[in-house]
Amino acid sequence: MSTSIDTIIPSGEPWMGVVRTGQQFTIVDLEGNQAVDTLFYNASDGAEHYSATHTIRAQRNIYLTTGSMLMSNRDRPLLRIIEDTCGRHDTLGGACSAESNTVRYALDKRHMHSCRDSFLLALARDDSGLGKRDLPSNINFFMNVPVTPEGGLTFADGVSAAGRHVSMLALLDVRVLISNCPQLNNPCNAYNPTPVRVIVRDVA
Ligand SMILES: [Zn+2]
Repeated sequence: MSTSIDTIIPSGEPWMGVVRTGQQFTIVDLEGNQAVDTLFYNASDGAEHYSATHTIRAQRNIYLTTGSMLMSNRDRPLLRIIEDTCGRHDTLGGACSAESNTVRYALDKRHMHSCRDSFLLALARDDSGLGKRDLPSNINFFMNVPVTPEGGLTFADGVSAAGRHVSMLALLDVRVLISNCPQLNNPCNAYNPTPVRVIVRDVA
């Protein structure tokens, strides 16, 4: 296997890259319990993107793990999770934002870094043509958002640990947009955001 991308995303930083059909895309939770807010787009048509609704409906389960097919808003598979040493990834929690920081935590958290701001920063830096309207609900890799039997949504202590990883096979050329979550107010990352590693490999 030859490696075409191998990089570290510091906590609180965005990252954007393209994974070609047949390539393997891996995210490593280097220090454990990090939340990696991630979106996927058809690399040649940004109007087609990851859809939580289509993905949940296709697999009849709200959590992502090995075997999960990440579906687009046109009901086409974008990537398949082929390896997962964490075991559970969130589809429902969405991205933190200035607004959610004030509602969930306190008014004075408004100016803290947020994933939505990181997404917008990455889109502004890149010539992808994507903008504010192209931010659907994202995946939170390594984040634990258990749903109660009554359907309640809770943010819980993380289930990941240092060195755990998730690998996907691209079934289409996809643009990846990541915000390595800067959140300092949430137990899912033990109030301590940490770096992750992303690797793109050609599968021989
Ligand atoms: Zn976040």
